[in-house]
Amino acid sequence: MKTTPTLSSILFFILLASLSGTFRAFSQFQRFDSSVVLSVYNGYVSALKSKDAIGAAQFWNTEDKRHYPVYDLVLAPPMDSMFIPLYFNATTTVTSFAAMGECCRLELKHQMGGQQITENRWFINENGDPKLANLLFILAKGHQLVSFRYGHIFILDTCSYDKSLIKAADSAVIVVQKMLGVPPRNNMKLYLVNSTTSVLNYLGSIPGRSIPMNNMVISDIAKSSMSLDQQIDVTCNLMQHEMVHVLLADTKEFGVDPLNERFIREGLATMLFGTGGLPFSVFDKTVQTRMSQGIVPSLAEVYADFWKRNVNESYAYAASFLDFLHHTFDKRTFQKFCRAFQSHPNLVDNVQNVLGGDLDTFDSSWRKFVQTKNIIVPTIWAGFQPF
Ligand SMILES: [Zn+2]
Repeated sequence: MKTTPTLSSILFFILLASLSGTFRAFSQFQRFDSSVVLSVYNGYVSALKSKDAIGAAQFWNTEDKRHYPVYDLVLAPPMDSMFIPLYFNATTTVTSFAAMGECCRLELKHQMGGQQITENRWFINENGDPKLANLLFILAKGHQLVSFRYGHIFILDTCSYDKSLIKAADSAVIVVQKMLGVPPRNNMKLYLVNSTTSVLNYLGSIPGRSIPMNNMVISDIAKSSMSLDQQIDVTCNLMQHEMVHVLLADTKEFGVDPLNERFIREGLATMLFGTGGLPFSVFDKTVQTRMSQGIVPSLAEVYADFWKRNVNESYAYAASFLDFLHHTFDKRTFQKFCRAFQSHPNLVDNVQNVLGGDLDTFDSSWRKFVQTKNIIVPTIWAGFQPF
């Protein structure tokens, strides 16, 4: 239940190290030898350059390895097409080294064409050898760890409601299995972080992120300025929303995520556990109100302009439409519809081919459904306007 000074001391050293533009070792820490750390890093990079994924994985700490061969980046998604060029085309310079007892860090600058990218690499000692590790893994050490049936929750802050989190994590897996026919996954790692710390800077200003390839969720712990009931609800909803992404992305049917598929992916996650920490009913109610005011765009527009409007709004319309389908069709048809986007990302065609009918007809049926719906918003969120 207690936190250690790990995070603040790491942040202190980040500051300290960033003041120094040159490579240097803090000799008072004997546990890391900078030249050994550098050789580990170089070994890793040369394995990557020769496309030796298994060889590259040897340089990662065993707990981080799980079942994927190569891990990379601070948050440790495996190498993907976006980051591979860093290693093949860039000139990399190590600009600083900082050891801090538990771990050490290399700051690297990659020069690619006219672009410079700064990146940190973290190492921990494993049986006396420095091994690459992702930052969250390091930060989670010494913090509260609770287990649920399908994995672990790392709570990088103080949190009095871990029992609720365990229940929420278990139920997310079960709900996704029941509704979407997606099997449970084991060894999920859920990192709950306090966004007032710099950890979330790596994610941008978003409350949560899923890294399905690594079985990993990172999401925000609600602010203590809320009531305890609200805090619990927000933290659980955020975590569960991201868990849906992890659970869906590992299945054949939902695996790839072309950008326009967010209609289905975000729609499903929002329909089940809301978004931004607020439950779906809050969004559902707002959609209902806006429909009565005649200001809800057509489904065709929602689909086409998904990223052009407030994200909460797009997520809410997608979720509301999927909820309508879920109540209207049998489970198999509903799942078939959601999965159809995987091979054919086209709302008009999938409505036609799987549900049988044109989008405009379904659009008006959706509106009728929402208008007559009895939506119960929990009292703690009564009157809340998410967009
Ligand atoms: Zn999402």
